[in-house]
Amino acid sequence: MNALPLGKKLTIAIDVDGTVADCSQIDFKRVDSNPRELMKAMPIKGALEAVKRLHKKGHTIVFYSSRNYKSNKITEAWLRKYGFPFHHIEMEKFVAHVYIDDRAINGCDWNRVMKEMSKPSLPGKLARKKGMV
Ligand SMILES: [Mg+2]
Repeated sequence: MNALPLGKKLTIAIDVDGTVADCSQIDFKRVDSNPRELMKAMPIKGALEAVKRLHKKGHTIVFYSSRNYKSNKITEAWLRKYGFPFHHIEMEKFVAHVYIDDRAINGCDWNRVMKEMSKPSLPGKLARKKGMV
């Protein structure tokens, strides 16, 4: 079902690579034979603090990634290593209120993300007010 119940608390989908994880030191050609290669990622500046704030506000935090399904456990291990709070990890895109993704047209600057999250014009907010989801 492509709908979520209305409410003040949001389901926030957060991409991993390039959004919370700086993957510049990862050799992606090696990941299939050695998934631990993914542990070389470092948190992107501002990401951890921002995700903690969103989590503290009571939003549901779901990380998602287009890494292959076998990378699920190592992705979880990386998020836990750096202390990212979350409720779930999905290895594909799913229905959420908001998506934070470095490949979105509007990019991913964590300062800007947090400003946008507090605006009444947050994408989806107006639609939800009108009863659409
Ligand atoms: Mg990405």
